[in-house]
Amino acid sequence: MKANHSHKGTAKYIVGEVKRFDQKNEMFKRARWDPRLQADAKRFYTTVYPKNKKGYMLKDLALRDAAWYIEDVFARGCRIHNSGLLSWERKAQDAGCVPTDLKLEIHDPREMSQDIKKVAKLFGASLVGITELDRRWIYSHTFDSVTHEYKELEVPEGYQYAVVMAFEMEYNLVKASPTWLAAGTEGVEYSRMPFTASMLAQFIRDLGYKAIPCGNDTAISIPLAIDAGLGELGRNGLLITKEFGPRVRIAKVLTDLPLVPDEPADFGVTRFCEVCMRCATNCPSQAIMRGDRTTKPHDISNATGELKWPINAERCFAFWARNEGSCMNCIRVCPFNKSAGWLHDIARWLVKHTPWLDLFLVKVDDLFGYGKQTKPNFWSE
Ligand code: SF4
Ligand code: SF4
Repeated sequence: MKANHSHKGTAKYIVGEVKRFDQKNEMFKRARWDPRLQADAKRFYTTVYPKNKKGYMLKDLALRDAAWYIEDVFARGCRIHNSGLLSWERKAQDAGCVPTDLKLEIHDPREMSQDIKKVAKLFGASLVGITELDRRWIYSHTFDSVTHEYKELEVPEGYQYAVVMAFEMEYNLVKASPTWLAAGTEGVEYSRMPFTASMLAQFIRDLGYKAIPCGNDTAISIPLAIDAGLGELGRNGLLITKEFGPRVRIAKVLTDLPLVPDEPADFGVTRFCEVCMRCATNCPSQAIMRGDRTTKPHDISNATGELKWPINAERCFAFWARNEGSCMNCIRVCPFNKSAGWLHDIARWLVKHTPWLDLFLVKVDDLFGYGKQTKPNFWSE
């Protein structure tokens, strides 16, 4: 029987056949094998030396490096699935204190969903949503960045739900993008992703159910997050959450625990992006489209079947290589990227309820200087 995905958040973007995406074609994987990208890959995947420039000094570089430590050493979800903290099963030698023959009877999946969200937040997630797992978002193949092992990927039957978690990056550090200082908050969240996902997966296993923790591995995170009601898709190709805009990283746990899916979010992102263009204007590599949404991909790094603003990932990566580090300008400048506060709550309300004010709101945002880069002094508060 064909699954009915029409009630999901991604349904409004899907206009054609969605084929499962081959992870080998994702930009950071292509950098490992695609001959056309080797010059950029060599610049990006190498030891970098500090410069005599704010945001690129030894303290900035150390912050960036240290922030990635948990992901790089104990999880490696950016390299391959089913590894370290993101292992699909608890390792037998690390037996916990809960007897493995127990299983919690769940009479109220709604209550269980609330409990899962509470636990995920306790373990470090900023936002949590639940969706029925749409298997079109699972990678068709995986590619190991180190060994180049390439193989088909199947998630066994029974994993019916995805608990999707967003992790807020630090507002002031993102404002220092594209310096290495900004990469510090990115690394912290990449490290928090396996930290939180692995503990949530273990909590579920301790209840007697199955759980697969994932960072960027195993399935594409953004559509899962949209299906889980965490936000909508922006012109910058990122998840736009109501609370933090695109200033988040995403992890997920796939499970057979009976849960209740969340409703899709709709707070006017597509409509606002049509008039905004701020990310396209401020992208240093012109990787973000200015025109209308399209189904036409730039290259093999774009998924098919969706009406969206596809990112030119090759151009984006070329800038990352020149920068010898990541970039978050398209997050920094987005008007949905705001810190907490009543004034910003009003702006969010206006975006949702007064579409005729969209262009005016973009201009007000410009006037107040939101999105401008802060001086990348070590620790800008
Ligand atoms: S990360 Fe930077 S280079 Fe890439 S699309 Fe965003 S703004 Fe452009
Ligand atoms: S910067 Fe503007 S156009 Fe780009 S994602 Fe944000 S709201 Fe949309």
